[in-house]
Amino acid sequence: MLPPQRQRTLTVISVVVTTVALAAYLALAPGTAARVRALVGLEGTARPDSPGTPYTFLQQDPVTQEPVAWDRCRPIEYVVNPAGAPPDWPTVLGDAVSRMERASGLTITSLGETDDRDFEDRDPTGYSPDPVLLGWADEDEVPDLAGDVAGIGGAVATGDTRGFRYRTGAMVLDSDLFADLSDDGRQDVAVAIVLHELGHVVGLDHVDDPGELMNAEGVAPRPRFGPGDLKGLAALADVPCG
Ligand SMILES: [Zn+2]
Repeated sequence: MLPPQRQRTLTVISVVVTTVALAAYLALAPGTAARVRALVGLEGTARPDSPGTPYTFLQQDPVTQEPVAWDRCRPIEYVVNPAGAPPDWPTVLGDAVSRMERASGLTITSLGETDDRDFEDRDPTGYSPDPVLLGWADEDEVPDLAGDVAGIGGAVATGDTRGFRYRTGAMVLDSDLFADLSDDGRQDVAVAIVLHELGHVVGLDHVDDPGELMNAEGVAPRPRFGPGDLKGLAALADVPCG
């Protein structure tokens, strides 16, 4: 068991969800205002599933009725801002990204390090949208990290009448907590938290079942997806390329 102060809860960043809707609005073709309204408030669109394997998506596509997903035929490109990160961040991040690639079938590619710290305003538009930004911060810089929040993550979609795809995103982790985890040799917990946030980046939302890594109340101190997490990732991988 971890000391109580380490049992931080995890929440999806509401501001990133807001950015998702706003970016989708800006990217939409004229005449699709109804779909914009349908997108707003899509947070936590549960898809009923068999008991014991719960999963939900951050957004459901109002056009195709599929979950909003990344184009699995293209790599998800990311950059890392290591300011505020513990010294073992390359190991933790590399482990989590590899586990997510294996579980999801997605290719997740590093473009290297960056000074960019604009976690909340990622540009999803154009031929080369912003890469996903991964980093560490405290609550003074990112207020949503206040309290027991260990990290936040999300993605930004654009779309048209054919449907929506995630094009960029962000993950920001609590620098104080990750320093403590590093000092205590708890890389397993650190990787579990990163995996949970990467789950948001690829399109999963919270579930109540504590057996799933995407549970809303906290994260078990082991970096392993549950059966519902894996079903959700498989559903995201079923979304056609394009
Ligand atoms: Zn979460």
